[in-house]
Amino acid sequence: MTRQPTRPAAAPDVGSAADLLDIARSVLADYATEERVREFDEAERFDAELYLELARAGLLSAALSTAGKPHHGRQTAILEELGAGPTSIGVAFVVQYMAVELLASHGTEQQKAEFLDPLLEGAARASFALSEPDGGTDVARAMKTVAVALPDGSYSISGQKKWIGGAMDSDYLILLARTAPISGSAAINGITTFLVRRGTPGIESQEIETMGIRGLAQCDIRMDDVRVPGDCVLGRPDFGFRQVLATLNGERLNAAAVALGIARGAFGTALDWARSRYAFGRAVGGFQALQHSLVDTSLKIEAAALLLEKAVKSADSASASADVESALAKLAASEAAISTTDVGMRLMGGWGFARAMPMQRYFRDARLYAFAPLTNEMIRNYLGERMLHLPRSY
Ligand SMILES: Cc1cc2nc3c(=O)[nH]c(=O)nc-3n(C[C@H](O)[C@H](O)[C@H](O)COP(=O)(O)OP(=O)(O)OC[C@H]3O[C@@H](n4cnc5c(N)ncnc54)[C@H](O)[C@@H]3O)c2cc1C
Repeated sequence: MTRQPTRPAAAPDVGSAADLLDIARSVLADYATEERVREFDEAERFDAELYLELARAGLLSAALSTAGKPHHGRQTAILEELGAGPTSIGVAFVVQYMAVELLASHGTEQQKAEFLDPLLEGAARASFALSEPDGGTDVARAMKTVAVALPDGSYSISGQKKWIGGAMDSDYLILLARTAPISGSAAINGITTFLVRRGTPGIESQEIETMGIRGLAQCDIRMDDVRVPGDCVLGRPDFGFRQVLATLNGERLNAAAVALGIARGAFGTALDWARSRYAFGRAVGGFQALQHSLVDTSLKIEAAALLLEKAVKSADSASASADVESALAKLAASEAAISTTDVGMRLMGGWGFARAMPMQRYFRDARLYAFAPLTNEMIRNYLGERMLHLPRSY
């Protein structure tokens, strides 16, 4: 890490969420036609050109306010638009926005210059490596990846990570590893966050074939005695998991935004079909059974959109806590996406099944946010405790 800091991590003021939405729409109109999105999904390839165009348009640097804080209003506006179109790129952006928040909050000036600045410009991509083969929900207790401090101040990291988005070709990993054994019941202590270049000797990545989000490879990572210098620790040693927990609201809001985008994209496709497909001499949208299902699903979408708007306002205002609101928004939006894509598949009959049609992709992609970054069962546990003040159930 020899590069000198060039500029603070705060982004230039890139405008309001509405301005950014216009910019995003214009890039997507040029680079993310339905046909192109389908081609990359079918080829199971990451659309690096589209990603770079979005970055060049300032949509990564928009993640931060001029004060260097996460700007949730902007992030969610952009992500909803990506979710409705090139969903896998939206998921890649969720990971980058999380990396931005962690680096902006905990990075040294040198780390910001080396890792954050290139990320904001689109010149480097990060992967976030937390989940492990033995568990994603109870990950702190299941974590077997260890980082051993060596006498010269460096670390040796060994272990495995699972489901790491984009790790086949990202430039660096934000990786959590155990640096102290679990003591007592607080498994979240004793975990440290590291910034690890993906090309570091000892790292092997392998792609996992998945049913959805096929435009962003999910990966297994194996690490065998991976040596990293001491200045690769991000934030406080042994407090890495707590640092990640502090970004949870933002991640939930961003997951909600992509899920809402999927729901809106699928709903638009279903409504067009309802108007243009004919049976018994009339548009199928004229049948009450289908109309009701469309009304019910639009209700879920509107409810999720309002919850997301409320949560974003709380998160962007310094005075309010957005914990419960962001959990509600994630739950509502992910369930709206699942139910809308189900309605869409039924409404399109056999055509929904065709790979040439976008509905089946929305249907597959919508599943992601039922369990990521946190499963909806755990979100319900959390809401039971924090919103309803019932005893903790886990
Ligand atoms: C496409 C994709 C992308 C991903 N991207 C990343 C990434 O970039 N980085 C990363 O670190 N991880 C990533 N993940 C991992 C993801 O975060 C985990 O899959 C998720 O946290 C769930 O963990 P798990 O799959 O191990 O399920 P498990 O933890 O094994 O859970 C299994 C089931 O048990 C339920 N369960 C567990 N505990 C309780 C409880 N107390 N109460 C009720 N139910 C409970 C869960 O809700 C779930 O239904 C990704 C996964 C996928 C598939």
